[in-house]
Amino acid sequence: MSTTPKTYDLVGVGTGPANLSLAALTAREPDLSTVFLERKPAFDWHPGLMLPDAEMQVHFLKDLVSPVDPTNPYSFPAFLVDTKRLYRLLVTGRSKVPRREFEQYCRWAADRMDNLRFGVTSESVEWDGGAFLVHTTDGVLRARNVSVGTGLPAKLPQCATGHDPERVFHSEQLLKRPQDFAGKRVAVVGGGQSGAEVVHYLLSSQAQRPAKIIWGTRRTNLLPLDDSPFIDELFLPDFSRYFYTLPEAEREEVVGRLRMASDGISLSLLQDLYRRLYDLELLEGERPCRILLDQYLATLEQTDGALLATWQPARGGTPLREEVDLVVCATGYEHGMSELLLGLKDRLTLQHGTPLVRPDFSLDWDGPAQNRIYVQNAARREFGVADPNLSLLAWRSAVIANSVLGYERYDTGAVSTALDWEPLSAVGQA
Ligand SMILES: Cc1cc2nc3c(=O)[nH]c(=O)nc-3n(C[C@H](O)[C@H](O)[C@H](O)COP(=O)(O)OP(=O)(O)OC[C@H]3O[C@@H](n4cnc5c(N)ncnc54)[C@H](O)[C@@H]3O)c2cc1C
Repeated sequence: MSTTPKTYDLVGVGTGPANLSLAALTAREPDLSTVFLERKPAFDWHPGLMLPDAEMQVHFLKDLVSPVDPTNPYSFPAFLVDTKRLYRLLVTGRSKVPRREFEQYCRWAADRMDNLRFGVTSESVEWDGGAFLVHTTDGVLRARNVSVGTGLPAKLPQCATGHDPERVFHSEQLLKRPQDFAGKRVAVVGGGQSGAEVVHYLLSSQAQRPAKIIWGTRRTNLLPLDDSPFIDELFLPDFSRYFYTLPEAEREEVVGRLRMASDGISLSLLQDLYRRLYDLELLEGERPCRILLDQYLATLEQTDGALLATWQPARGGTPLREEVDLVVCATGYEHGMSELLLGLKDRLTLQHGTPLVRPDFSLDWDGPAQNRIYVQNAARREFGVADPNLSLLAWRSAVIANSVLGYERYDTGAVSTALDWEPLSAVGQA
């Protein structure tokens, strides 16, 4: 006699902060069966860039749950109280905690949830006519709904592909590889937060200091993250909902104009870096870092024992050619459809090759309306600059949780705002 496999109400694929937040908001729903899968053996947040001094770019109250469910047991304040450090954190005066502490918090929360499974890789998602089948390294799970939270793949410049990965690598590999920078000539590509963190890290360690750093960026300067008050309203639910209702062409233009709200460098890091360069040059007599503005890495050629990097001025002019030993590409992440969904591609509504995302963060598809594929951190086109950010993590998870549950379990409606973010039409109502 064959037994029908259990069908979960929701299977989460990938458990970074995004799906961990959804797990936290659904963990205590008695009538909802959920499981969240993660390929790593334990919660581990961007380990290759878990730099000792790195700070969060958002306030600690923008945690997994607090903005929508402040009494949830998996909140950051609950973590602070449980680990007996709330008073001390308040004494530090910090509103943005070290990145290592945010990871500690996520691990603490993950350890207390029983709907997570670590060490399980999801391989594909299919539709069997009645439910989704999530194929994993530990068997097949059946699900009414799926939430894909697998993060974004690293992006390398074309000329940096095909080289020895020990010598030319993405910044997300920085701490995962041998720390062999001492005395080397290192090129760092990219003038955003990660590029600045890499350079700061290389300049900070006496033992690992490269002989020379060439730091190149297409940007016209090392531009600060704009988190001034009115700009910060871009990270409120109301702006995301408003953005959703903008015409497509306008959305792209708005994202371009507001880029430094999400892609700039934290002011405190810029200050630290500037002071570090000052001290090294004027107190220690070294000038180990050359910063190339308005220039991009155009070619990278293998020479005898080294790499010849050509930096091309963005607005034309004579390229600079320099030999280096290592190249760190802090060049961001690819936005696009998760490979896990390739088997469902023909059933999804695609726009410019990427699935269309509905107001409840589910993909537009031709299957039954009550079965949905939700996406976390894959709707920047529809929801704007806040989508890849942690600010609206809890809100997005609450929108998804409400959609799965079929009722308004969490209040995800309008909040108080200084600016007027009225959606242009009813289509944006999540
Ligand atoms: C170094 C760094 C620091 C950042 N700091 C901030 C910040 O301070 N503030 C902010 O707002 N944003 C920050 N961001 C941006 C963003 O918030 C983070 O990238 C965040 O981790 C996104 O969460 P996520 O859960 O969507 O993806 P991820 O954190 O990438 O998690 C995805 C998870 O899915 C797993 N996975 C992938 N494929 C599979 C599979 N097939 N099967 C099972 N598991 C799988 C991965 O192992 C991973 O654990 C930062 C980004 C980086 C890179």
